[in-house]
Amino acid sequence: VLSELKELEKLKVVSEIAASISHEVRNPLTVTKGFLQLLQDKTLQDEKKDFYIKLSLDELERAEIIISDYLTFAKPSLKNIEPLELNTEVHYILKVISPYATMRDVHIEFEQVNDIYIAGERQKLHQCLINIAKNGIEAMPDGGNLTLQISNSNEMATISIIDTGIGMTEEQIRRLGTPYYSTKSTGTGLGTMVTTSIIKAMRGKISVSSKLGIGTTFTITIPQIDKARKDRI
Ligand code: ADP
Ligand code: MG
Repeated sequence: VLSELKELEKLKVVSEIAASISHEVRNPLTVTKGFLQLLQDKTLQDEKKDFYIKLSLDELERAEIIISDYLTFAKPSLKNIEPLELNTEVHYILKVISPYATMRDVHIEFEQVNDIYIAGERQKLHQCLINIAKNGIEAMPDGGNLTLQISNSNEMATISIIDTGIGMTEEQIRRLGTPYYSTKSTGTGLGTMVTTSIIKAMRGKISVSSKLGIGTTFTITIPQIDKARKDRI
């Protein structure tokens, strides 16, 4: 199954999302505030106390996840665009995700190629690769392999993130990138949306190929820049 994410449709909802995100975050904050007020009661039983604290922590964690998935969805700013060498950037994200992978028995492989440059915002590229890699790891509840490949041809740089996880149905692929679409109990359904928007901003494309029970491959293609010219952008 191969399908290119239909970015335009999905980007139309951006402004609605901005509004609903603040709503999503405000909810847990309001709930937590309420519990903290209850906790001021000195006569409260320990059991109740523990219960309120647990719910507050859960709610705060939810807010935290929403913010971290959404963080870089903000408008790309031109001033932060710089030449990025893919090898270096992929190494960076491997450092970030490897504890998460180890925890879940996921083995990571990186097939590196030197001197492939693109123009973009470092943090945003990181965020988008981390989102995809994280999804890959989460798709392998019993462990597996996550492979990252980079390559270049015809002035395009390609990054592939391949997992040996649960895979997706055609219907799931179609819904990918739709705000709040998630099959996970604690998922936000924002990761893919953010990723898609970042790649679009870099004039790139993202495609996904997936097979149920076999795994999923995300392929990102971004215009390459010339190494010799890299200082001039
Ligand atoms: P979240 O991870 O919070 O659920 P995402 O936007 O990152 O939200 O992903 C949306 C959904 O897409 C996931 O819940 C999952 O169903 C599906 N998905 C994304 N990546 C993969 C993958 N590598 N393998 C299987 N399913 C995936
Ligand atoms: Mg995700």
